[in-house]
Amino acid sequence: MDHKDGPAQNRVKALKRAGELKDSIRGYLEARENIETGFNLQEQHQKNKERIKNHFGATEEEWQDWHWQIKNRIYDQEELCLFLNLSQQEKNEIKEIGTRYRWAVSPYYLSLIDPDNPDCPVRKQAIPTIEELTDELGQLDPMAEEETSPAPAVTRRYPDRLIINVTNQCAMYCRHCQRRRNIGEEDVGAPREEILEALKYVRENEEIRDVLLTGGDAFMLSNEQIDWLLTELGEIPHVEMKRLGTRVLVTMPMRVDDELCSILEKHDAVYVNTQFNHPKEITEQSRLACKKLAKAGIPLGNQAVLLRDINNNPHVMKKLNQELLKISVKPYYIFHSKRVKGTSHFRTPVEDGLEIMEHLRGQTSGLAIPTFIINAPKGCGKTPMLPEYLVSMTSGTIFIRNWEKKIFQYINPRS
Ligand code: SF4
Repeated sequence: MDHKDGPAQNRVKALKRAGELKDSIRGYLEARENIETGFNLQEQHQKNKERIKNHFGATEEEWQDWHWQIKNRIYDQEELCLFLNLSQQEKNEIKEIGTRYRWAVSPYYLSLIDPDNPDCPVRKQAIPTIEELTDELGQLDPMAEEETSPAPAVTRRYPDRLIINVTNQCAMYCRHCQRRRNIGEEDVGAPREEILEALKYVRENEEIRDVLLTGGDAFMLSNEQIDWLLTELGEIPHVEMKRLGTRVLVTMPMRVDDELCSILEKHDAVYVNTQFNHPKEITEQSRLACKKLAKAGIPLGNQAVLLRDINNNPHVMKKLNQELLKISVKPYYIFHSKRVKGTSHFRTPVEDGLEIMEHLRGQTSGLAIPTFIINAPKGCGKTPMLPEYLVSMTSGTIFIRNWEKKIFQYINPRS
């Protein structure tokens, strides 16, 4: 006969278990106190913003206008040092890097940087450092994008979905950008003929049910262009969903204007993915932009990139994901950064990502847990870091299995 405890014993057990659970989260609660978010830095951001506005003689109305933000991006080291403390050597290095890789930062994103802290995680994503030029490990095109483009502006790596690269423009040129080969040398949208060719390719291939518009940043297109593209795709019977890839929610949230929201609202099955990498990027203004999109019925997902000394820390990543949920953004992926030339200093060992996932699982809401992804070399697909996909692991090299059950060697950066 089963022996069941009575209510009193059950309560004792439950209290004991609750005590254990409380103890297990204590470390995070303590660490969390020291992780800054954009919400608790509002005063500093406001001060920075006023300084930048004064420099440009800008009104609040102009600051809130995304065209003004784009027009007044900072891309000169002399101007930059009016807002950040830079040594002469740093200025020289930024100048030198600028001759090889483009850099530009929106006044809004600049206002999020701590001017006195060279280790500020926002600064590291925006301001060039000399490691970009001394990178011996990175490759120009590790994803072999040139080999996965069956039509102009199209990247196709999967059976039922593809990417249309609609522009190479971004509000800011992120230092860790995985697509920097194509991004921003000049600010141009893909020519209309290319987009028409891409749409023709989608039309002629009935298995394509999911189209991602990205670049660059899809929200750098005008509202009219976005409306036109979504209309064209909406008229293709086999296209079931449209996704837009944008980082403006992080780098220039004023881009999300009322007109854009009403355009997105009128199209069916539109999804937006963005890239917040640190809780300091989550501000009141980004919250408002996400809220407007959510009100327009647009599901929002976050694709963070695992970045050394920015977010390769379980507590920081947990805080980031929890803050994202507060602004209606679902943490979707954490990408292990690719071997892109000029960005190797941002790469971390794969183990850092695995440790983060271990730290999240069970420790926080399922909704706050993204999937940790390695992009298999040569564009062979996103590979989740789950036991069935991780074939073997030694320091320096791992073997992974992709969705087609092909095995790849993947170079694991050292710690
Ligand atoms: S917004 Fe995206 S595409 Fe543009 S520079 Fe940043 S990471 Fe690259």
